[in-house]
Amino acid sequence: MPDRARVVVVGGGVIGTSVAYHLAHLGWTDVVVVERDRLTSGTTWHAAGLMVTFGSTSETSTEMRKYTRDLYARLEAETGLATGFKPVGFIEVATDAGRLEEYRRVSAFNRYCGVDVHEISPGEVKELFPLARTDDILAGFYVEEDGRVNPVDVTMSLAKGARMRGVRILEGVPATGFLTARGASGRVVTGVHTPYGDIEAEYVVNCAGMWARQLGETAGVNIPLQAAEHYYLITEPIEGMDSSLPVLEDPASYGYFREEGAGLMIGLFEAVCAPWNVGLIPESFSFGQISPDWDRMAPYLEAAMARVPVSLDAGVRTFFCGPESFTPDLLPVVGEAPELKNFFVAAGLNSIGILTGGGIGRAIAHWIVDGQPGIDITGMNIDRLHSYQRNPEYRATRTVESLGMVYQCHYPGRSMQTARGAKLSPIHHRLVERRAYFKDVSGWEGADWYAPIGVEPKVEALSWGRQNWFPYWEAEHHATRDGVILMDMSFMSKFLVQGRDAGRELERISANRVDGETGVITYTQWLNERGTLEADLTVTKLDDDRFWVVASDSAHRHAETWMRRHFADAHAFVTDVTSAYAQINIQGPRSRELIASVTSHDVSNDAFPFRTAREIDLGFARPLCIRITYLGELGYELYIPAEQAAHVYDRLVEAGRAVDLRHAGLKALSSLRMEKGYRDYGHDIDNTDSVLEAGLGFAVALDKPGGFIGRDAVATLKAQGPPSRRLVQVLITDPEPLMFHAEGVRRNGKPVGYIRAASYGFTLGGAVGLAMVDAGQPLNQAWLDAGEWTVEIGASTYPVAVSLRPLYDPGNERIKM
Ligand SMILES: Cc1cc2nc3c(=O)[nH]c(=O)nc-3n(C[C@H](O)[C@H](O)[C@H](O)COP(=O)(O)OP(=O)(O)OC[C@H]3O[C@@H](n4cnc5c(N)ncnc54)[C@H](O)[C@@H]3O)c2cc1C
Repeated sequence: MPDRARVVVVGGGVIGTSVAYHLAHLGWTDVVVVERDRLTSGTTWHAAGLMVTFGSTSETSTEMRKYTRDLYARLEAETGLATGFKPVGFIEVATDAGRLEEYRRVSAFNRYCGVDVHEISPGEVKELFPLARTDDILAGFYVEEDGRVNPVDVTMSLAKGARMRGVRILEGVPATGFLTARGASGRVVTGVHTPYGDIEAEYVVNCAGMWARQLGETAGVNIPLQAAEHYYLITEPIEGMDSSLPVLEDPASYGYFREEGAGLMIGLFEAVCAPWNVGLIPESFSFGQISPDWDRMAPYLEAAMARVPVSLDAGVRTFFCGPESFTPDLLPVVGEAPELKNFFVAAGLNSIGILTGGGIGRAIAHWIVDGQPGIDITGMNIDRLHSYQRNPEYRATRTVESLGMVYQCHYPGRSMQTARGAKLSPIHHRLVERRAYFKDVSGWEGADWYAPIGVEPKVEALSWGRQNWFPYWEAEHHATRDGVILMDMSFMSKFLVQGRDAGRELERISANRVDGETGVITYTQWLNERGTLEADLTVTKLDDDRFWVVASDSAHRHAETWMRRHFADAHAFVTDVTSAYAQINIQGPRSRELIASVTSHDVSNDAFPFRTAREIDLGFARPLCIRITYLGELGYELYIPAEQAAHVYDRLVEAGRAVDLRHAGLKALSSLRMEKGYRDYGHDIDNTDSVLEAGLGFAVALDKPGGFIGRDAVATLKAQGPPSRRLVQVLITDPEPLMFHAEGVRRNGKPVGYIRAASYGFTLGGAVGLAMVDAGQPLNQAWLDAGEWTVEIGASTYPVAVSLRPLYDPGNERIKM
């Protein structure tokens, strides 16, 4: 037993060994892996071993899959241990119009990412997988290089690769807790307790699979994952099955299929699933199985078997059920814990831990060694999750839905339906009366759109086209551009930062000048030393020692942790006041008229100009009123103590009758901000983008006294001239097609980027989005103008207009009027 190591990795499944392997490859060989029992004894040993690169519209996930496949293909040459990788091919079949559209869109995006996927006919599916029924198939999507691996062999090979470079792997050694200390910037992990003694460490990585949550709790770290039953059936040998058959996946029938021991393996993702051991995962569960629930699974099994009818007559060799971890949003839990510095987590793999294992291990290793993961981490960062999500009731409720979501058609805007109602805005019930349709916004019920009087707010049919609420959304959009609307955004993260050093410290972490005049709001980014983005938010100076920081819902814990860690011993204190204040937006050209009618405060343009903040009187309340917009119009954000929110809302609605006040939801928020090219961190900009590439150079005060974190990197980039990569606004000139995310963008027929986020621009007259475009040379408007631009939506291509400046109100005239 060593008594110290630079890094201790807890867990010897595919993820833990991959982390150790990649650390060793980066030269960090003083690494110890502690495994409670034996390598692979958790979930890894019984995985089906699908190695598939097709299927994700996340660049991060697709890159991870590609890297993982390549790694498994070459690992044997390095370690001498085979991974069992067989590139037998992979086919995803579509049997309904929704999935056909989805897979066409996904395959276009995956091709952009370098996955060689193409659409094949039902006849070709039959040729490749003769035992499959194909008469109801609309199309297949085929990746010849994909296939299968042996998860145990993969893990052993990764472990050997790690050992060959000096990593020590200790089996039969459980981590029982963690050593921590209080450092200048919060609590920091300093080692691992085991029954055989402590191991001191600079870094700890929790790769304990489904045990990660309860292990994390011993150190106060929130890891809200939950094990669920996960099934496959293997038949007795079937004539015609051989190991060269491709893997076939048919989500509409809940099943995937591959050869196993001359029989057929039928893996299942049932629509309604079952969490396993919501209380505690037994410490002694090794190479374990769960007794299958035949009754619950029978309908799914029948549906899946019907895809390969010969399986209905074959004997069952095994019906296997094993536990796998699922997370509330089906994305893994990866990154440094906000509660504990140097404590990393890589768990909650949602049934793709084998096929992304290489990429996850590489990202964590880079994060530890280089201080950054090298990929867009915003979607999977552990700090997106909240502590209530690890409550037993929450996990039990949400997990019923999450596993099944893997095989649902991923219609745009689809929201999880379980574990809802956990967080309500203080005016939620008023909005229910207004017929709001709600969606899950980081756990909050966010009003997405409003049904007209007499219409029930419900989605009639999910689709890739114009759904029933499209006209309601359009009306809300126009009401904002032409009149005045009320929008509830109470889910925004709000912080009060106070203390003698508050201004100085905020100035140090903000790229823009935030500690100027009192009563001024500033849009700023927080950067890391490399000049790439950590947060995108506003800072309002309330007084010399009091600042109001507002970030988006998903950046809540990241922004808070960033402040706490950087303020260290300074006299600057962060209070999370998210729940203490509602945020009601009054926006549109008639917003001033409305605000003027409810307050005695002078809100004229001279007295209350753009970017100023005042406490105003409004009925019996004194909200903080900030003249700012995220929608591109004259507008105000009102921050109201929660207990007075309903009162203020009522006053606004009452006075709003005179100015035809409408309610607008988050659909309108997205279409309005997208027309104006306003960024949304985690959606169209992320941690891999420099502030200049994001087109936010205007918000950087390079020469402010004292500088700021990331200043030197930005200055160096700026000196190099216009970046070759830039966020570009894209508008389809044909009003018909819709964009959502991941549509490929081409210049003169050549792929140069993809749409990171999109909406429909009712004022601009077409679908509009933001794409990060790589020019391979300095990117400016002249280069944009010199090209012929198109966007690829599924199998179709449309001409687009592209612009660096916002296509809507480029001169900001409307917001300053
Ligand atoms: C039926 C089934 C089929 C699947 N098929 C596929 C597939 O085809 N493709 C795919 O990509 N994925 C598949 N998966 C998912 C995949 O198996 C998992 O995502 C992956 O194995 C997770 O790996 P892990 O290292 O996170 O967890 P684990 O393999 O569970 O590893 C965690 C390790 O931590 C150890 N540990 C726990 N607590 C401690 C402690 N306190 N101290 C020390 N060690 C500890 C455990 O013993 C265990 O070995 C499947 C899963 C199931 C259940």
